[in-house]
Amino acid sequence: MAAWRRAQSGGRRILIVSYHRVVSDFTGELQRSIPGLLISQETFRKHLEEAHAAGYELTSIGDAVDVMAGRRTARKDLCVVTFDDGYRDVYRYAYPVLKQMGVPAITYLPTAFIGTDKRFNHDRLFHLLRRVQERRFRPLYDALPAASLELLGPILSGQKTVSAALDDFIGEHPTRVLTDIIDALEKQLGGGADLVPEQGDVMNWDEVRRMAQDGFEFGAHTLGHTVLTLEPQEVVEREILESKRTIEREVGITVRDFAYCNGWYSDEVIRVLSANGFRSGVTTEDFPNRIGGDPFTLKRKVLWENFSLGMTGDYSSSLTACQFDDCFGVLGMSHPVPGRRPHHIISSAMANSILGSEAAASPVKEVP
Ligand SMILES: [Zn+2]
Repeated sequence: MAAWRRAQSGGRRILIVSYHRVVSDFTGELQRSIPGLLISQETFRKHLEEAHAAGYELTSIGDAVDVMAGRRTARKDLCVVTFDDGYRDVYRYAYPVLKQMGVPAITYLPTAFIGTDKRFNHDRLFHLLRRVQERRFRPLYDALPAASLELLGPILSGQKTVSAALDDFIGEHPTRVLTDIIDALEKQLGGGADLVPEQGDVMNWDEVRRMAQDGFEFGAHTLGHTVLTLEPQEVVEREILESKRTIEREVGITVRDFAYCNGWYSDEVIRVLSANGFRSGVTTEDFPNRIGGDPFTLKRKVLWENFSLGMTGDYSSSLTACQFDDCFGVLGMSHPVPGRRPHHIISSAMANSILGSEAAASPVKEVP
């Protein structure tokens, strides 16, 4: 399968893997966090070893882009490690492993969160929904935004787990709806510090700088974790340019790589990136990259702990090797979700006059 994929990709496989949080106590964290964002430090280390054993050279995003563009040739297949969102766990538990093993990595930062104690909407909502479950709380739907029933109904009736319901919901609703539900639910649950998750904190700029000094790369991931295909042109430009400039100012590096929030992109978003000094954009489309392919629609495999768990529930080396070799993709057993979305780009002024000032404001988008 590896040989077939290699031939199909133009002579070399270029695998880009994506992680969110790398944690020390996976079982404990599983009780309180979105499972699909987690991998234990131990399994993360094994993934790097497995990629190496599968014949990949663990390399930087810049190398991968150069090989794809034909600017240089690779002696081996390439594997690039990426992290989204700048969670502090990455600094604490991935960075030491990467450094020790001499493996490069890039972390994509939503800059308005870095150095603050803010939490992402997806983490806040997950936490609140778990409180609702624990307290056997019956929400008063009349006092919640209309879309709440769609989110809470399947959870309270036991049809869906919190993370499955959240996944479906976040893919369909703009951030404004999420923040309205968060506010209303917090109020109904009586407020209090325990309604904001303790976990899910992000790096500060000192931590980013320390990693950068060790050669680790950073890319932009908007200001407010904004899904750009839902935004007017001015917002797209601001989110892209200001996040790039903020990292460059804080860290003293040149930022040329971008990760699309929610994995969603459009021709317009790509145009803004390429006109402003970017060289790449990563998606969450689980397809193989091809030599000669578009550097602004780089395909990625999003990995978490359970991708390596075999039938017995323990870590499986062969299953992990299968994931890295994309056996399930080759066999047509995986069904990747395309990230290209229609983008009816309008200016803020136009949006103002059509939808009223509220719709044109720049809401903070926070989806994993
Ligand atoms: Zn993200």
